[in-house]
Amino acid sequence: SEKTMDKVVALCKNRGFVYPGSEIYGGLANTWDYGPLGVEFKNNVKRAWWKKFVQECPYNVGLDSAILMNPQTWVASGHVGGFSDPLMDCKDCKTRHRADQLIEDQTGVAPNGWSDEQMSQYIKENGVCCPNCGGKNFTDIRKFNLMFKTFQGVTEDAKNEIYLRPETAQGIFVNFANIQRTTRKKLPFGVAQVGKSFRNEITPGNFTFRTREFEQMELEFFCAPGTDLEWFAYWKDTCKNWLLSLGIKEENIKLRDHDPEELSHYSKGTTDIEFMFPFGWGELWGIADRTDFDLTQHQNTSGKSLEYFDQQTGERFVPYVVEPSLGADRVALAFLCEAYDEEQLDEKDTRIVMHLHPALAPFKAAVLPLSKKLSEPAGEVYAQLAKKFMVDYDDAGSIGKRYRRQDEIGTPFCITYDFESQEDGCVTVRDRDTMAQERIAIADLERYIEEKLAF
Ligand code: ATP
Repeated sequence: SEKTMDKVVALCKNRGFVYPGSEIYGGLANTWDYGPLGVEFKNNVKRAWWKKFVQECPYNVGLDSAILMNPQTWVASGHVGGFSDPLMDCKDCKTRHRADQLIEDQTGVAPNGWSDEQMSQYIKENGVCCPNCGGKNFTDIRKFNLMFKTFQGVTEDAKNEIYLRPETAQGIFVNFANIQRTTRKKLPFGVAQVGKSFRNEITPGNFTFRTREFEQMELEFFCAPGTDLEWFAYWKDTCKNWLLSLGIKEENIKLRDHDPEELSHYSKGTTDIEFMFPFGWGELWGIADRTDFDLTQHQNTSGKSLEYFDQQTGERFVPYVVEPSLGADRVALAFLCEAYDEEQLDEKDTRIVMHLHPALAPFKAAVLPLSKKLSEPAGEVYAQLAKKFMVDYDDAGSIGKRYRRQDEIGTPFCITYDFESQEDGCVTVRDRDTMAQERIAIADLERYIEEKLAF
């Protein structure tokens, strides 16, 4: 049967992956809270990214920079001034729309690179309608800055205005010299960061796909000019393989290269990795060759040198950067959508199962005593495994029901402790995907689970 967003959202809510934010107050539009299973799952996603992009990568180091930054940062990055959506209001029904979206909806093509005047003119001349009321009376286009503004300190005046960061990348760029000096890294090297970003999006939606508060996992990979296109190819490949190694199916992703008109003026190449969500293709990962744009901007704005000295060649230059930027919530949603499955077991029996990779599953295993009489020794198995992994313990209801509950939350292994376990020191391990069962010594459980977590 069909995989729909409604089903994924319902499972998330009912099992404690993701709840609507502030629900008892009627919610706050497009905010979501990760519940007990969701926080485990999302932490696993972030850990899996860190493992590949920092821990296992000899080139890269990590960073955790502040969300609040000196406002000059956003002048240098182009976010003050640029980074704004072209908005227009329908005069008839007072709804607000993105001009580029209206054009794309009518033509099927995004008007990339068009000026506001060109968009206004197109909308007038081609009778583009308001999607809400069908009217054709729009206001002029106004630019809307997507950054959340707030005040630092007790007085709320213009000189105390600061922004919540709209991306984590700039925290990396402003620390480039510090990191290079303290790690004594030679080019090429990268800096990775995971953290919250905030954008006052006009059209949030599709569950956690687009929200105003979200987490990013960004890598800024610095290299010598001239080597950038090679590294661009390398990181595209690495990113794609990371998705595949964690269970995303090849047919559900595609790499989309930006057309020359769509490219930012400073970029030599940008590729989006898109995923086939139940609502259609959506961008997961933006991978861009950003040349020396960012570091040069910060060098010019701050007056501090961000050049790199190459000891071998005696040259001094501003490094180029390749940026793979991934949304943690977005890729987490992709993993949930990919994993969701309704299986027809026989004529009258179906099960919902989340085929999450064991490395991502909230619980690695569930310990299930066959009878409440066995709770003491089963509890010991649980306590032993809990020192190493997130494990669940469930002694309520029939064993079949307990299996199904674990299937639905993606627990890869159910460990049944039965009356023989005390005699032979073994338990029955049931595999979530195949439902096959095998007898395993309690002493071997830890290694057995550990092996399945590899990716
Ligand atoms: P989109 O076109 O989907 O709004 P973008 O091109 O603005 O995304 P980037 O600025 O390249 O996105 O951000 C890098 C990544 O951060 C995106 O690929 C996405 O995974 C994530 N991301 C960006 N905006 C949001 C958001 N509002 N909610 C959740 N994730 C986001």
